[in-house]
Amino acid sequence: MARAYNQAQKFGVEMAIPDEVISLEGAGNAGNGVLRLNLANNEAARARSIVIATGARYRRLAVEGLDSFEGTSVHYWASPLEAKLCAGEEVTLVGAGNSAGQAAVYLASHVSKVWMLVRGADLAASMSRYLVDRITGLPNSKGFVLTGVESGASRRPLETSRSGVYAIGDVRSGSVKRVASAVGEGAQVVAALHAALASIQGDSTNLKTPLRSNR
Ligand SMILES: Cc1cc2nc3c(=O)[nH]c(=O)nc-3n(C[C@H](O)[C@H](O)[C@H](O)COP(=O)(O)OP(=O)(O)OC[C@H]3O[C@@H](n4cnc5c(N)ncnc54)[C@H](O)[C@@H]3O)c2cc1C
Repeated sequence: MARAYNQAQKFGVEMAIPDEVISLEGAGNAGNGVLRLNLANNEAARARSIVIATGARYRRLAVEGLDSFEGTSVHYWASPLEAKLCAGEEVTLVGAGNSAGQAAVYLASHVSKVWMLVRGADLAASMSRYLVDRITGLPNSKGFVLTGVESGASRRPLETSRSGVYAIGDVRSGSVKRVASAVGEGAQVVAALHAALASIQGDSTNLKTPLRSNR
């Protein structure tokens, strides 16, 4: 990280650490608008393109000492990687929603036994089938940001429904939720940014005032 930090500075990047973005304004559809990020410290930053890489925050169990087992025996995902880590063992799935159901079916062929911890009396009690199907079918109820064609026919890869606003990594709907893929999307979005900025070069909507200012 130290080396990445140094290299970015050599290329003229201005770092603002720590700063929290609390809202985004001015995301229009013309493709040349100036976007404004309001920061928690009462400053604002302006830009023609923004990359959202805020990751995902998962709901955690209120269990004492849970964090010391995260990454080794507590997982938030059931991919081939977790299946390999748990191969031949007994696994407990907490929850009875659609994701838990999918994970149970998937893990069952890799582990010796799958236990499901369910609050209700049975699986159907947690959510009726028609509701599960309806929610699964909705493109926007899951809390992740849509990009590319999923967010609009004319959108560039990794671009959201708002012109000039991109999303990468865990926050992006459909991303793999792995470090390597998040870093890869970071590299990929650079090409998209170059293409977008080249298309608006010479535009009169320049950033004439300082990039950062008090709100
Ligand atoms: C317990 C656990 C174990 C994992 N184990 C592995 C593993 O073994 N291998 C693997 O490949 N992946 C693993 N992952 C997944 C991996 O951590 C993520 O895929 C990866 O970190 C995603 O990178 P990201 O840059 O999208 O988001 P993050 O790494 O989450 O980074 C997002 C950053 O944005 C900041 N941020 C959020 N909101 C704001 C805001 N409003 N303003 C300013 N900053 C903000 C956050 O503070 C954070 O620093 C694990 C995840 C978890 C939860």
